[in-house]
Amino acid sequence: MKIGLRVDVDTYRGTRTGLPRLQDALDRRGICASFFLTVGPDNMGRHLRRIFRPTFLLKMFRSGAGSLYGWDILLRGTLWPGPVIHRRLAWSIRRLGDTGHEIGNHAWDHHLWQAKAHRLPRERVIEQIERAHEAIALSTGRVPTCIAAPGWRCKESLLSTREQFGYAYASDCRGEGVFQPVVEDQPAGPPQVPVNLPTWDEVIGVNKCTRLDAFPAIASNIRRDGYNVLTVHAECEGGAAARDFEQFLDVMIDQGWSFVPLGELVPDQVESGHMTTGWIPGRDGWVAMRAVDVT
Ligand SMILES: [Zn+2]
Repeated sequence: MKIGLRVDVDTYRGTRTGLPRLQDALDRRGICASFFLTVGPDNMGRHLRRIFRPTFLLKMFRSGAGSLYGWDILLRGTLWPGPVIHRRLAWSIRRLGDTGHEIGNHAWDHHLWQAKAHRLPRERVIEQIERAHEAIALSTGRVPTCIAAPGWRCKESLLSTREQFGYAYASDCRGEGVFQPVVEDQPAGPPQVPVNLPTWDEVIGVNKCTRLDAFPAIASNIRRDGYNVLTVHAECEGGAAARDFEQFLDVMIDQGWSFVPLGELVPDQVESGHMTTGWIPGRDGWVAMRAVDVT
């Protein structure tokens, strides 16, 4: 009865307040998770341009994103250059390095990756990974052992950009079960640990789900003896949804579940699979997904 727990830290504010708060909540319960850090410039406010898309606007209203994320996050990088997270918030990142949590590479510039990594030249993509890798190693005092593409924006062509860093696994896509991606009959990058449970912001607004029902809705997708991987965000579960998340942790622990870092889910023998793209209810735009192989 295991749930792989992944924490994404996407922004300056998430690193400053959400990361320490989430880390403390997990440490108090003796839970080890996988933390994926963003350490370069915080330009997440550039997503504000998406506000002109009706689906995004609707989601903002439903989830109360202004109060949830804070208007500072929503505007960051739009009116002035975004702050470089690891330079300003070294104390918060170092604090994580002194624990037993798994440390992973999420992004240098989260916004840049999410918006167009699949369209950037390969050298530029590798440079983004390398800059984050080095800054995370320097700030935490530990070399990151895993990687997760921002916003699950990954294509088969990007998988091999992960090869030179020695990562034990990548968590670049959504779907069921750990697999070794194969591209043109060759293994590409490390094994993938896909995320299969919906995130907080994905359940909100679908089937009239409110903030009060969010974690029960997530929990209804968890399968006994099944594959369960959950992503939480420092900006959300370490912020406005922190109390609800802690309550969820306690309920699940009471029921006999244990939360583990994603690395613990990788078996010795990993089956092969393929990566494709698809859509997730409640999420804007395409994401990478494990292909359901038809045999
Ligand atoms: Zn992210």
